[in-house]
Amino acid sequence: ATPTALMVGTGRGAQLGILIKGPEVLESTRRVDTVVLDKTGTVTTGRMTLLDVVPADGEDADRLLRLAGALEAASEHPIAQAVARAAAERGELPGVDGFTNVEGLGVTGMVDSAAVVVGRPRLLADWSAPLTPALRRAVDDAEQAGSTAVAVAWDGVPRGVLVVADAVKPTSAAAIAQLRALGLTPVLLTGDNERAARTVAAAVGIDEVIAEVLPQEKVDAVKRLQAQGRVVAMVGDGVNDAAALAQADLGLAMGTGTDVAIEASDLTLVRGDLRAATDAIRLARRTLATIK
Ligand code: ADP
Ligand code: MG
Repeated sequence: ATPTALMVGTGRGAQLGILIKGPEVLESTRRVDTVVLDKTGTVTTGRMTLLDVVPADGEDADRLLRLAGALEAASEHPIAQAVARAAAERGELPGVDGFTNVEGLGVTGMVDSAAVVVGRPRLLADWSAPLTPALRRAVDDAEQAGSTAVAVAWDGVPRGVLVVADAVKPTSAAAIAQLRALGLTPVLLTGDNERAARTVAAAVGIDEVIAEVLPQEKVDAVKRLQAQGRVVAMVGDGVNDAAALAQADLGLAMGTGTDVAIEASDLTLVRGDLRAATDAIRLARRTLATIK
C-alpha cells in the first residue's frame, strides 16, 4: 500500500464527512463483512418523547410523572430526558438526593422523601418491587407497538409505567440497503427490549437482532461475532458503546454522539448520517483497489 494513495483516501473521506484516525484504518475497512449497529441514537434519532403515563391501581398519574421526572432530570439518558421534559412542562420538579445511575437498567434516588426507582422492569424486580400483572400488560402492549416502557416504583411498591418512543432516522433504511448492496450483513445491537428492537429492525431492513444487552455485554456480543470468523464494523454513539467500538475490527462513531465513543473509534461520521458508513467502506475499497 502506497502511503500517498492512502492519504488521498483520507482526504476524500473528509470531503464526505468522514474523519479517519489514520490511513491504515482503510486497510481493516476493506475486510469488514458484518456491520453491528447500535439502535438508540445511531439507527434512531435518540430523541424520545413520552407517549403515555400508566399509573398502577389507586396511583395518581401526575405524582407518578412528577417523581419519575424529578429523578430522570439528573440523568442524560434519552429516555430520562423525555420523561423529565414532559414532567417539567407540568410544573417545577422537586430535588433529588443520592442519585444513582444503574448502567443499562435505570436510575434510583430520593425524591420527596420517597426512594424512587425508574427503569427496566428487571431493575424493579431487583429492588423487590416486581410489576403487577396489570402493569406487566401495559409494558407488553407498549413493546408490542415498538415503544419502550420504563417502570416506576417508590418505597418498594410498583407505581406505574411510562411509555416512550423514538423515531427511526429518515436516512437509516437507505443506509442499510446500501450496506447490503455492498455485501455486508447488518446486525442491530441494543440494550432495549427485544420487541422494540425487532420493530425498528423490520422498519430498516435488518434481520439479525441482539437485544436486552447490558452496556458491558455489548463488547462480548462483538467478540462472539468475531469468534464466528466475522470481520466486524461497529457503529455507535453512546458511552455504553465505547468498549464495543474499540473491540470491533473497525469502530465508527456518530459525530453527533459522545466524546467517549468518538475516542474509541477509528472513523467518525461527522454528520451522524449512517449513509456515511457505506461511503467509508466504499472509499476504502476503491482507494485500496487503486493501490493494487
Ligand atoms: P441502547 O443500547 O439502546 O442505547 P441503554 O443500554 O442505554 O440502551 O439502555 C437500555 C435500557 O435500560 C433502556 O431501554 C431502558 O429500558 C433502561 N434504562 C437505562 N437508563 C435509563 C434511565 N435513565 N431511565 C429509564 N430507563 C433506563
Ligand atoms: Mg446509543
